[in-house]
Amino acid sequence: MKEVEMKKINEPSREIPITNETSVLVVGGGAAGLSAAIAARRMGCDVTLIEKYGFLGGTLTSVTLGSFCGIFTVTEDSIKPVVKGFQEEIIERLKMYNGVSEAKRWLKTASVPYDTTSFKRVADELVEEAGVQILYHTLAVSVIKEHNQVKGVIIENKNGRSAIMADVIIDASGDGDIISMAGGEYSVGDNGITQFPSSMFRMVNVNTEKLSSLSREEVTEYFQKAVNDGYPLPRVAGGIHLNPIDHVVHLNVTKVSNEGEVPINPLDTSQLTYAEMEGRKQVFLYERVLQKYVPGFEKARVIDIGPSIGIREARLIKGDYTLTSDDVLSCRKFEDAIACGAWPVEMHDSGNKTRWVWIEPGNFYTIPYQSLIPARLENVLMAGRNISATHEAQASVRVSAICMAMGQAAGIAAYLALSQENQVRHISVEKLQKLLLDNNAFLP
Ligand SMILES: Cc1cc2nc3c(=O)[nH]c(=O)nc-3n(C[C@H](O)[C@H](O)[C@H](O)COP(=O)(O)OP(=O)(O)OC[C@H]3O[C@@H](n4cnc5c(N)ncnc54)[C@H](O)[C@@H]3O)c2cc1C
Repeated sequence: MKEVEMKKINEPSREIPITNETSVLVVGGGAAGLSAAIAARRMGCDVTLIEKYGFLGGTLTSVTLGSFCGIFTVTEDSIKPVVKGFQEEIIERLKMYNGVSEAKRWLKTASVPYDTTSFKRVADELVEEAGVQILYHTLAVSVIKEHNQVKGVIIENKNGRSAIMADVIIDASGDGDIISMAGGEYSVGDNGITQFPSSMFRMVNVNTEKLSSLSREEVTEYFQKAVNDGYPLPRVAGGIHLNPIDHVVHLNVTKVSNEGEVPINPLDTSQLTYAEMEGRKQVFLYERVLQKYVPGFEKARVIDIGPSIGIREARLIKGDYTLTSDDVLSCRKFEDAIACGAWPVEMHDSGNKTRWVWIEPGNFYTIPYQSLIPARLENVLMAGRNISATHEAQASVRVSAICMAMGQAAGIAAYLALSQENQVRHISVEKLQKLLLDNNAFLP
């Protein structure tokens, strides 16, 4: 095929205002960024948080999830937290608004259902109370770099283009946007193979009593029957979570790929556009199937779809240490542990079921501080689903509770780095661990 040369144009250079100078700049207000911003601010830092949407929570609210995963290590007779700190605080605050339910067991794990709208309210309250300076509807588009330091971030919003200068920057964009713009090394999933995205949705008017009497296997059988009858469902095993709001359930059942189960490229806008539209088509296909085949859904209908399709994995940044599936599955305890996790490797790839690889019941692994430090950059930290991890390890650490725990650690580490000429590598990890414990985090 003849290659068409892309036409190009020169963008003229221009002077832009510096609209803010801050000690700590957090890019992205998802589970990790929200937690990082509040942690750094509570240590007394001057903190600015920028977020491209008009609310906080990231995947938790812009995709919407059924429940907070990754809080517990579970055995047949116990459910014990391995993530506390900021996650516990969020749950306590959500309880004030009936925005959360008790932990529920499912498969070999347990998670905590929450209501997305209540989460937005609680997140606003917490940043306001902490005194974090927040800019919504603001996209980080470029960096100002000198040697190995990122001196600032160029932003765009309705006011135009401007710069925020910062001493320490935390990349909590989920996609590693800042570090990639700063020339940091990364891979996109496993050599371009990323986990498949899903559109998430909630249904109302569900007879939750009837639904609760069904096992996960029975729901899978109903979906399989629909497939046998000609409904092209991409997944027959998925999560249906009771919401804290009566007769509402949250569904994690769709799965989007290109033809031939080729993964979506999460960094390509045309692919994302296709994924959004295909995801919504799938939502309404599942609505029809649920109404027709699954007891309890006879009168149910879709009440909302997450404003954005859910991207499980994009850039995995190369850090001083890359967490591996061996570390996760062998429950490795690092000396420089700053967060813990017990979530299985949960892989959404080809085929109509999710692949689960479980860790030892009752045990947990740790995440080392080095996985939060991007290679070669001096004053940048990362937290959340873009940390330095292999494709398989990321399939465990990416869940929201673990992202919050990493965020809390990155926020406190940023505070420590400010007294070390912003060199994130030179902080005392022992001090970081002590401060995390003082702030109710769980560490071994
Ligand atoms: C379909 C799906 C289902 C899932 N199910 C569950 C579940 O049930 N339970 C669970 O615990 N976890 C679940 N997860 C995983 C988990 O929700 C996410 O991995 C986790 O919340 C990621 O948090 P984060 O803060 O690292 O990133 P994100 O949530 O992606 O947050 C990044 C934030 O940065 C903002 N941003 C990005 N780029 C820029 C930029 N350039 N400038 C400004 N802002 C920017 C984004 O708008 C976003 O708010 C699921 C994930 C997906 C995709």
